[in-house]
Amino acid sequence: MFTDKEKTIKIIENSIENSLTYANEGEVATYIPELANVNPKDFALSLVTVNGDEYKFGDYNKVFSIQSISKVISLIMALNDNSIDEVFEKVGTEPTKYKFSSLIPIDDMAANPFINAGAITTSSLIKGKDLDEKFNRVISKIKKLSNSNNITFLEEVYKSEMETTDINRSIAYYLRSKKIFSLDAEEVLDLYIRNCSIGMNSTELAHIGALLANGGKDLATNAEIISKDSVKIVLAQMASCGMYEESGSFLLEVGIPSKSGVSGAILGVVPGKCGIYVYSPRLDKSGNSVVGKKLLKILSNDLDLNIFL
Ligand code: GLU
Repeated sequence: MFTDKEKTIKIIENSIENSLTYANEGEVATYIPELANVNPKDFALSLVTVNGDEYKFGDYNKVFSIQSISKVISLIMALNDNSIDEVFEKVGTEPTKYKFSSLIPIDDMAANPFINAGAITTSSLIKGKDLDEKFNRVISKIKKLSNSNNITFLEEVYKSEMETTDINRSIAYYLRSKKIFSLDAEEVLDLYIRNCSIGMNSTELAHIGALLANGGKDLATNAEIISKDSVKIVLAQMASCGMYEESGSFLLEVGIPSKSGVSGAILGVVPGKCGIYVYSPRLDKSGNSVVGKKLLKILSNDLDLNIFL
């Protein structure tokens, strides 16, 4: 796979064409007002192999808010700053059939790190003397993981969500009341929303996928950037919990550990092979990009990426 570049490009181009026949299905997220302002026709795909080869299509230079893809980063940081036991004392590891923004607690803690309650929890586990220091650490980490210095903060997206995020605010206070954390709930919420409002392009995100696909080792130098234990945990959680309440059917149909975000992003990781990032903002009822899901399914088949085969 990926030995014949021309052939790979042709396969990807064909897969994109097929998936874009679904481009008018679904709706752009509007519950965060600023997200409604995106162009529903925007589309980007970046695939980065573990050798560092890049395949880029569509609006791959355009910056989008990463939304829930930040949950992958928060988990990596929580695992970096705490022991594995300390993290999973506070957040579960099980998929859930409830919506990502659900308040329904499982044993008084979030079902997994990839729903909002779980990522608010992992945000509370990121170390730093104050909110700014914690957020600066997140940005520095993302720069390192994506091998890019251009990571931005989308102030308008952040403000728009902070003004409307009653549900996440309730979740933060609820978790605090259950002693999941003792920090100020507003600060934990703020860090979570800041993380969701980070702006990146599709190639930068595909680089993070490729790094995870490479066992956490830098693609060029092979230096360890993410510990092996963290990579195993993050990929297992992406496979079982990354696609909201469709995680099981997506794994069954596509067979690629993936994490979805309501901006229309999906990050897929094929261990030993590549990271893939698809962006197309129209979502299905679960909050997954319609075109993104179709495209990953076609690519999985046509590029032989299913981890179970
Ligand atoms: N900022 C979004 C929220 O908390 C992220 C949700 C998502 O992408 O799944 O609602």
